[in-house]
This record gives sequence, C-alpha cells and structure tokens, in this order.
Amino acid sequence: MPMPDFDAIVIGAGQAGPSLALRLAGAGMKVAVVERKAVGGTCVNTGCTPTKTLVASAYAAHLARRASEYGVAIAGEISVDMKWVKARKDAVVAQSRLGLTAALMETANCTLYRDHARFISSREVAVGDERLRAEQIFINVGGRASTPAMPGLDKVDHLTNSTMMDLNFLPRHLVIIGGSYIGLEFAQMYRRFGSEVTIVEMKPRLIPREDEDISSAVQEIVERDGITIRLNAECISLVRNGGDVAAIVDCQDGASEVVGSHLLLAVGRRPNTDDLALDLAGVECDERGHIVVDDQLRTNVPGIWALGDCNGKGGFTHTAYNDYEIVAANLLDGDQRRVSDRITAYALYIDPPLGRAGMTAAEARRSGRRVLAGQRPMTRVARAVEKGETQGFMRVLVDGDTKEILGASILGPGGDEAIHSVLDMMYAKVPYTVLQRAIHIHPTVSELIPTILGELQPLR
Ligand SMILES: Cc1cc2nc3c(=O)[nH]c(=O)nc-3n(C[C@H](O)[C@H](O)[C@H](O)COP(=O)(O)OP(=O)(O)OC[C@H]3O[C@@H](n4cnc5c(N)ncnc54)[C@H](O)[C@@H]3O)c2cc1C
Repeated sequence: MPMPDFDAIVIGAGQAGPSLALRLAGAGMKVAVVERKAVGGTCVNTGCTPTKTLVASAYAAHLARRASEYGVAIAGEISVDMKWVKARKDAVVAQSRLGLTAALMETANCTLYRDHARFISSREVAVGDERLRAEQIFINVGGRASTPAMPGLDKVDHLTNSTMMDLNFLPRHLVIIGGSYIGLEFAQMYRRFGSEVTIVEMKPRLIPREDEDISSAVQEIVERDGITIRLNAECISLVRNGGDVAAIVDCQDGASEVVGSHLLLAVGRRPNTDDLALDLAGVECDERGHIVVDDQLRTNVPGIWALGDCNGKGGFTHTAYNDYEIVAANLLDGDQRRVSDRITAYALYIDPPLGRAGMTAAEARRSGRRVLAGQRPMTRVARAVEKGETQGFMRVLVDGDTKEILGASILGPGGDEAIHSVLDMMYAKVPYTVLQRAIHIHPTVSELIPTILGELQPLR
C-alpha cells in the first residue's frame, strides 16, 4: 500500500483539531484529520453541548413546577417526556456535529479519515489499513471517563457521561458517584426530570477544588432541589441488589448503603493516550498519561504537538480551542502566544450557575498577598430578587497593594455570563478601580460588580 503524504496529520477531531486543520488547509497545506468516533469529540457529542441542552429542559421543568410562585397557573401535574428531551438533545448535537463534519469534508486540501490512529514512528501514523506520513503531527485525542478500581464495579452495570446520552427514560433512582462538576450537572438535571438522586462523594465536601463557602452554597442549592448527598464516602464498594445497585459508602460503620436503580460514575477523566503507540514516536507522557508539552504545546519530539485535554493543561473546550489558537499563531502568524498567558476560567452549569475566573479565595490567601474581597449575597442583588432566584453569592478578590484583580466567583443567575466582565479586566491587566468606576446596566447581576469593588474588606 503506498503511503499518502501530507504536510500535517491531525489525530482527533475534538475542539482543537478541526479548527487547526481548517486553518492549515486554508494556508495551503495538505492536511489529514483522523477521527475514530464522532467529529466534534466529547464537547459536541457527550459533553458540553448535550448536557447544556438537557440542563435547559430540566430548567423548563423546574420553572413550570414553580409557575404558581410567579402567578402563573398550570393545570395538572408537570411531567417530563424523556423521549422528547433526548430527541431535542440529539437534534442540537447532530446539527453541531454535522456542520463540523461537512466543513472538514468540503474544505480543499483537507481529508477526513474515520478510523483509529496509531503512531508507527515520529512521522508516520497507521489508520486502519493505511499509513499516513507527515512532517507535522498534531495530537488532539481528548479523554474519557475514568473507571476507578472500586470493589464490585465489574459486577454491576454503570453509566458514564457517554452512555447517559442514550437514556430516553427516567431512572427511578440515580446514584451518582462523584460530587464534582459533571456529577452535579447530571444530578440536578435528573432530579428536575423527576428521578430520585443521591450523590456519593468521597471528600468532605462537594466540588472540593472550590472555596468552602462555594461548596456549601452549591450543596444548599442542590439539596433544595431534593437531592440527597453522602459526603466522606471514603471507601466505596458496589454490589447488585436484586435489579438495583447498592453502593456501600461507609467502611467504618458497616453496611451503610445507598440503593438505586442506576449508577453513574463521575469521578474524573483520563486522557486517550494509552492506545496511540506514543512510544513508537518517542512522545513523552507524565504519570497520569497526559502528553508533556511546553508553553507553546510542543511535545519532546520536534514536529509533534499535543492540544486539548490530552496535554493536561486545560480540561475545557475553551482551553482546547485556545490551544489551537496558540499553535496556529505560532506556526502561521509569527505570533508567539503561550499557554501561560491564559487565565483560569470556567463555569459549573447547575442552576443557578457558578462562573469562575482566576484565583479562589484559598489560592489568594496562599499567594501571600494582601488580599481584599468584595462580596454580596444574591438576596441583595435586585435582578436575582426580581427573578425569584436568590440562591448564591458573588465575590471579587483584589491585591490591596497592586490593585490587580486576582479572581472572582459568581454563583447566581447569569453567573456564567456576568463573570466575563471581571475576566476581561483581568486580561486587560487594569487596576480594579477601572471596573469599580464602570457603569453597568440596571438591573443586572453584573451591575453589582462595581459596587462590591467599592466595599472591599480584608479577606478573612
Ligand atoms: C459531561 C461533560 C460536560 C462538559 N461540559 C463542559 C462545558 O460545559 N464547558 C467546557 O468548556 N467543557 C466541558 N466539558 C469538557 C470538554 O468536553 C472537553 O474539555 C473538550 O471536549 C476537550 O476537547 P479536546 O479537543 O481536547 O478532546 P475531545 O473533545 O475529547 O476530542 C478528542 C477526539 O479525539 C478522538 N480520538 C481519540 N483517540 C483517537 C485516536 N487514537 N484516533 C482517532 N481519533 C481519536 C476522539 O474520538 C474524540 O473525538 C465537559 C465534559 C464532559 C464529559
């Protein structure tokens, strides 16, 4: 079989690969993109897009149940048609996947291969029966749900974020192992669809990466929805219980168990680097399987780059996309953009959502700076009161000496959007006083950001 020669091979059509391939092809390079499953990767098919579409259905159900609080009468009980919910989600996902697939297939100089890619050497990749060769190879293989070594896991059925996407029925009782971002989003949406939901978390609090008061506020929010939470479940084992599954959650006191009809594992992600034959290319990974890259996403092998979740430097769609921007800027624009230029930012899409930028309060304290904080509960934010959504709070942290904005957390209605006014100021590297003097629109959650910056106190 002759070896097709390309200028570049992109392995994985996730959130960095397709954009990079289209950019390289547009620059006149002959590009191969190899995707073994669904174009768009995790985000489009089993991550951001479907979950946020499902969250929207869950919000509609929640609001319908609360309708009478707003003076709106809905006759009869609110029920959720899970087949419809899934069909709506599938349609949104398909639109995104098909659009991206078409772009790759219709672009001149770009060839899409639908198979698993594996390195043969630092310049060659096996794809099914074919061998592709290129001087530049870009790895964008993403990750998948990790399955921890939990006693009994091999004896029970379990769901992951991927298999959850096939559900078109309501689990009677969904037990979710893992009380972090992915687990919480599924927990709240399924509770609002009508399932009984229990979250089992090994740590003493939910989303342990966040500040303690954020964890507590998030716990209050999901508990108010009727979700049961079991914390400190340090040693979890699983057993079948008739047609149900039981999670034994307390090793010390014996048989404390949570029995549910379905089990979802949401205990983290692992990179898809174990089946790429990276050793044949000489590409180095760290102990967690992430490909080691420098500040411009070059691996240790000249001519090979790694972008997105597989390099362990981001974990989000926007960071994967930013990886594409960094590589393209360096290779095509003579612009030496770097990973270290980016500021941590992300959201947790429960309702109300949490928007985050920069340091947590704990990180700010550890930084040794003189940290000032402005904070306000949503009960004192007019827009939240008007909407009848007053759970949560907002906080902005600044350096009392340099006036630099260090970070912010906005847990409340529109928190995922409002955070950007703080984030953009952080990118602009302006003193917090610029934001403090900005006039924001009334009534919005964002209008209180300048206000709290005028009420700064030493961070306790
Ligand atoms: C439930 C869930 C919700 C999420 N929600 C959000 C959110 O709201 N916002 C956010 O920013 N992030 C979210 N994320 C994270 C986000 O999905 C990922 O960070 C993002 O998809 C990473 O993009 P990527 O390009 O690195 O990898 P991926 O999107 O995982 O794409 C990698 C692609 O490579 C392919 N591939 C792997 N190995 C090979 C191989 N050997 N040969 C050929 N192809 C291969 C895979 O099939 C896949 O299509 C969520 C994740 C999950 C699981």
